[in-house]
Amino acid sequence: MKAEIISVGTELLLGEIVDTSTPFIAQHLANLGIDVYFEATVGDNPERLTTTIQRAARRSELVVLTGGLGPTEDDLTKTTLAKLVNRPLVPEPQSMNKIKTFYAETKRPQPVHADLMGEIIEGATVLPNEVGFAVGILLTTKQCHYLVLPGPPAELQPMFEKEAEPRLAQLTQHGQVIKSRVMRFFGIGEPALEDCLHSLIAGQQNPTLATYAKQNEVTLRITASGSEKAAVARLLDETEQQVLHLAGQYFYGYGDDNSLEQVVVQLLQQRHLTITAAESLTSGLFQSTLANVAGASQIFSGGFVTYAATTKEQLVNVPAATIATHGVVSKETAVAMATGAQRQLQTDLAISFTGVAGPDELEGHPAGFFWLGLALPDGRVLTRSVQFSSSRNSVRDYAVKSGLKLIYD
Ligand code: ATP
Ligand code: MG
Repeated sequence: MKAEIISVGTELLLGEIVDTSTPFIAQHLANLGIDVYFEATVGDNPERLTTTIQRAARRSELVVLTGGLGPTEDDLTKTTLAKLVNRPLVPEPQSMNKIKTFYAETKRPQPVHADLMGEIIEGATVLPNEVGFAVGILLTTKQCHYLVLPGPPAELQPMFEKEAEPRLAQLTQHGQVIKSRVMRFFGIGEPALEDCLHSLIAGQQNPTLATYAKQNEVTLRITASGSEKAAVARLLDETEQQVLHLAGQYFYGYGDDNSLEQVVVQLLQQRHLTITAAESLTSGLFQSTLANVAGASQIFSGGFVTYAATTKEQLVNVPAATIATHGVVSKETAVAMATGAQRQLQTDLAISFTGVAGPDELEGHPAGFFWLGLALPDGRVLTRSVQFSSSRNSVRDYAVKSGLKLIYD
């Protein structure tokens, strides 16, 4: 099924608010195996809204509209759609009651158009609004399905997940099972991952594989369909195995919301390992990132920001001679930082970051070059050097993720 999302609101066009609903809906539709082919934003203007809906209905099987369900003059979505499909608006008794009761109980004057919030287009399925008053609708016409949702994300999101999603799933399936699995990768760019998976992606039908890049990471969504749940699951498993065979070294976890730091904190918790860090290049970003994860305190009690050479000596006992001989950005300094931090706090693991954030080069190393050191419980220290050319903060982000991946590996 092909879908189009239309967000309605002049404030969106003016840039006064950022459209967060379209990506929310798009992600959820993707999970249902519904392909979003187009997205549009249109102001609170009945003519332009009409044209936009008509165009969407011609080229998509599902048209999702958000916003403009409220009680004010500029809330036109339902009336415009009703006119377009040539059906009347009719009261939905439960929502109407809720609205009337609210205004009566709070002794507020009921806005002239408040009733509109409790109306649906005749023949539509009611999607109750748990949070607000504007009822949502799912309407099927000869041309397409229309899903109409309120603007405020706090109303839209629960309505989508609880009311719309199960119904959309029914609409799409027709006895078909559609399942997707999200795999996450770090240390490889999106084009390179696509190249790597070329044999799976080329000529794909079922399952389909789609990559997308986000903040120095790449996510792969595998979507499979079939008439039987077990067969679809098997197809996903087989494809995952093939993906791991081709790009397993970059893989670290599953799911849309699962971050590298979450995976690492979980791993350390499971293995009962504590960690600290001595950070030069990243200056606390690694430690701050660990603390994003609830429960990080079980594995992390604190660490060191050792930006200047002298601080490396003072806080984690890096010998002055090491820095003098090998430089700040060196394997030897990374090793000394990690072992020094590990000794200071008596942790199982300690990681160090030293490198060149840029834009200028340092000690003859180009911007984006850095060393990581990871001190292990048995006294060994793993090291890795990386060259990642990007902006200053992107280099720091990449360094933190490289450190997390080194721990994961
Ligand atoms: P209301 O009853 O509040 O008028 P509504 O369904 O009519 O709700 P709008 O008037 O279009 O929705 O939007 C109300 C508010 O919801 C906006 O001011 C904005 O804060 C938020 N909102 C609307 N659309 C979006 C969107 N696409 N992304 C993020 N926020 C949005
Ligand atoms: Mg409104």
